[in-house]
Amino acid sequence: MTCDRFKRLLDALEGAELSGDMAEHADVCPECARAAAALKAALLLYRLPELASSVDLTPRVLALIPFIPAPRRIVSLRDWIVSGFVILGGMVLLPLMATFGALRDAYGTRFTLPLAIVLGLVITTYAGVFVSSHQDELARLVKSRPGHA
Ligand SMILES: [Zn+2]
Repeated sequence: MTCDRFKRLLDALEGAELSGDMAEHADVCPECARAAAALKAALLLYRLPELASSVDLTPRVLALIPFIPAPRRIVSLRDWIVSGFVILGGMVLLPLMATFGALRDAYGTRFTLPLAIVLGLVITTYAGVFVSSHQDELARLVKSRPGHA
């Protein structure tokens, strides 16, 4: 039995005991055994009398939250950092472009301050969105550093 087939059959079981070949697979595959155990624990909790008889769905849904896998980010931490450095590199290289030199020749240096302010706002906004959308990952990185309590 493959893991895919095991998980499809596990969904269909709705908490009933594993069939013979499923139990054999769970004995040799720790990942599928964990999935079966987690589903069984979630269903046991879900069927507790005080939860099952509740008219309000909120406690029933809240009871299942620990068993739901965390959502995955669409853009990884690494891609955010690489993109940030690409944007920053573009800003640093901007004054070296021929167009920038032509603008400076035509308008003098009056446009450089507003341009620097706009570029500063862009990178600050990017950094703000990055930090606020990755707070949990960044906190984990800081906590796991040796030397920090
Ligand atoms: Zn498996």
